[in-house]
Amino acid sequence: MKKNINKDIFKASWTYDEAPESTDHIQVKKQYELYIDGKFTKPVKGKYFDTINPSDNKKIASIAEATTEDIDKAVKAARKAFKSWSTLTGKERGKYIFRIARLIQERAREFAVIESLDGGKPIRESRDIDIPLAANHFFYYAGWADKLTYAFPNRNPKPLGVVGQIIPWNFPLLMAAWKLAPALATGNTVVLKPAETTSLTALKLAEIIHESGIPKGVINIVTGAGKTGAEIVNHPDVNKIAFTGSTGVGKYIQKVTAGTNKKLTLELGGKGANIIFEDAAIDQAVEGIIDAIFFNQGHVCCAGSRLFVQESVADTVIQKLKSRMETLMIGDPLDKNTDIGAINSKKQLQIIENYIKIGLNEGGEIYQPECILPKKGNWCAPTLFLNVSQSHRIVQEEIFGPVLAVQTFRTIDEVIEKANNTPYGLSAGVWTEKGSKMFYLTQKLNAGVIWGNTFNKFDATSPFGGYKESGFGREGGLHGLKPYVKFE
Ligand code: NAP
Ligand code: MG
Repeated sequence: MKKNINKDIFKASWTYDEAPESTDHIQVKKQYELYIDGKFTKPVKGKYFDTINPSDNKKIASIAEATTEDIDKAVKAARKAFKSWSTLTGKERGKYIFRIARLIQERAREFAVIESLDGGKPIRESRDIDIPLAANHFFYYAGWADKLTYAFPNRNPKPLGVVGQIIPWNFPLLMAAWKLAPALATGNTVVLKPAETTSLTALKLAEIIHESGIPKGVINIVTGAGKTGAEIVNHPDVNKIAFTGSTGVGKYIQKVTAGTNKKLTLELGGKGANIIFEDAAIDQAVEGIIDAIFFNQGHVCCAGSRLFVQESVADTVIQKLKSRMETLMIGDPLDKNTDIGAINSKKQLQIIENYIKIGLNEGGEIYQPECILPKKGNWCAPTLFLNVSQSHRIVQEEIFGPVLAVQTFRTIDEVIEKANNTPYGLSAGVWTEKGSKMFYLTQKLNAGVIWGNTFNKFDATSPFGGYKESGFGREGGLHGLKPYVKFE
């Protein structure tokens, strides 16, 4: 049958109507307190700081700042709760964790909006990725709570005690879930600190935790900046520190915990290689490159921030990549059309802008699509750097923004050497039609996570973690239980 095609349609310039997510259904209080020993508690020193909406830099709420005395109270509450929580049957512990998972699902829309308001990420991502995955982690580890003897047959796993957990701002609720769920399932009690710029969903989570009826003191949520984190790390009665954040702070934590009895896991930075071979499905690979670097404004530890394209297809890939970048929508994080939201903080924007300057000064060739950035708030256009080499700082250092360094290669050996030539070892992506090539590379690449013909896919059942300066310890899957148990 002949189709009637209106040819004028292709000449029109396409725009989308705004599709903002409603904020009517969310409740944000003016002021948030600490969650210690099952109560919302004012900080001892009475100090508060502002949390800001990065898309307009307006204040959203005041957040309590925990200092030495508050951390001590939280650790004492967790120590007291450990006695009964660690001896509760796994089945009982699992019930509470399942309940938290279900409550997250019930309030998913509210969580998604608050995550985007407070952190700047597109609502499409918080709605479809962050919040469902957070619930997924609680569900998954709730299932392990009464099966630990199967997870570690004949080894009698025991909890460690009080665990201090410190998380970053790029996936606020999801990182809280990655930390809390396995610790609780294995019978530990917790003092958790979210990042200063994104405390709101962790505090909303505290409300759910309270509603779940979990015994008081099992989970304590304390807010504040780096100093508050350091108080947790240095508290003498903490048995383990689980940290996700920058390599710099990770090194500091490793130093100060050395020689103590504290166990440690570090999930740190990355500079992932995304490798496109000439036999790859090019259009899918281009979509994968976009997802690898522009997902969550590039604020992703495992972002594919270094692109390696085989020379024979480089021109095609780069041309297709540029035209795909022209179609990316940058703006209001609460608009359902938005692909790239706001940069999380002024400080992070300065870091990214500084790297763009460094890239230019070192002779890189920049490409940014034409786009109108909103006047208020923190924004950065998606950026490519061509004509760069291994020695460029923007190729070696983690930028944590929407900036991609593009290089080419001719042979497999060459790309393996280049991909492994950074201090990091967190993630990589390989795009090829050949399974044998894929498996060969997964053996040769020094990265904790390697995706094949896809990128940035996460699941609670799958372990995640790094090599080299990307840290040690695994989160997710059966592997994620191990850092929270000892064997007798
Ligand atoms: P960051 O500056 O290291 O902060 C991470 C957390 O540590 C925040 O809660 C921070 O508090 C706290 N902190 C800062 N100084 C501290 C200290 N001296 N002692 C104890 N805690 C301290 O990192 P970020 O900028 O928030 O996050 C970005 C980094 O996280 C990137 O490098 C990224 O690659 C990494 N990351 C890694 C993974 C992974 O799984 N490997 C996942 C996500 C992110 P304040 O922020 O409130 O100051
Ligand atoms: Mg904020």
